[in-house]
Amino acid sequence: SNKFFVGGNWKCNGTKESITKLVSDLNDAKLEADVDVVVAPPFVYIDQVKNSLTDRIEIAAQNSWVGKGGAFTGEISVEQLKDIGCKWVVLGHSERRHVIGEDDQFIGKKAAYALSEGLGVIACIGEQLQEREAGKTFDVCFQQLKAYADAIPSWDNVVIAYEPVWAIGTGKVATPEQAQEVHAALRDWLKNSVSADVATKTRIIYGGSVNGSNCAELAKQEDIDGFLVGGASLKNTSYFNELVQVVIVCFLVMQGPEFATIVNSVT
Ligand code: 13P
Repeated sequence: SNKFFVGGNWKCNGTKESITKLVSDLNDAKLEADVDVVVAPPFVYIDQVKNSLTDRIEIAAQNSWVGKGGAFTGEISVEQLKDIGCKWVVLGHSERRHVIGEDDQFIGKKAAYALSEGLGVIACIGEQLQEREAGKTFDVCFQQLKAYADAIPSWDNVVIAYEPVWAIGTGKVATPEQAQEVHAALRDWLKNSVSADVATKTRIIYGGSVNGSNCAELAKQEDIDGFLVGGASLKNTSYFNELVQVVIVCFLVMQGPEFATIVNSVT
């Protein structure tokens, strides 16, 4: 695996009060330096989070406008996100594709613009249940990946998030084998269609019903470089915020097989 990358996507959840508590739980955690950690609050709370959260954790927006700001009512520009301290933006999330109706080309353009302005992009892709059942998982994922590849000049600042739609918010986490199979295929696609270097270095993280308990077996897979955690990132285990537990598990998995018993004891 590459250096693990763990993101918490808070989606359209939270209040000033609940976010104050989340931030305080995250600030209390001791997070190992060897795992990149990012949270994506709703736009309106980014400033609050930026002003209260430890610098150890970077901030992502959940979307951004496709170009420079201006007369685009209701949109938030990349420049504004940078101004309030965002380092990343989540793009192409399944909820934006399938609930809001964003298409591959629009998402590719957004990615290209955000990268050109220096934001990192968490580029989401993933098949729907009926696509998986029809044997189209690879076709769909490759097509979505190609739209990013066609639009962006460099993968240096990109993390790919494979999030099968049927696993998002359903409690039906992909099995380690299912996730690994797609991650390996995505890496292969990058190798053949972009370059061997990009295939090796680009982190491919998994999202969809991940929590502190089910992430260990996924994290052990060769091509899984971290996680995008939705619902669980808003919750606590008996000890920590679940996102913190995911980070701890990734850290332990990275240490190698001799830490297997500790992984089992925390999950
Ligand atoms: P859940 O973890 O709630 O399934 O959401 C995953 C996700 O969409 C992260 O972006």
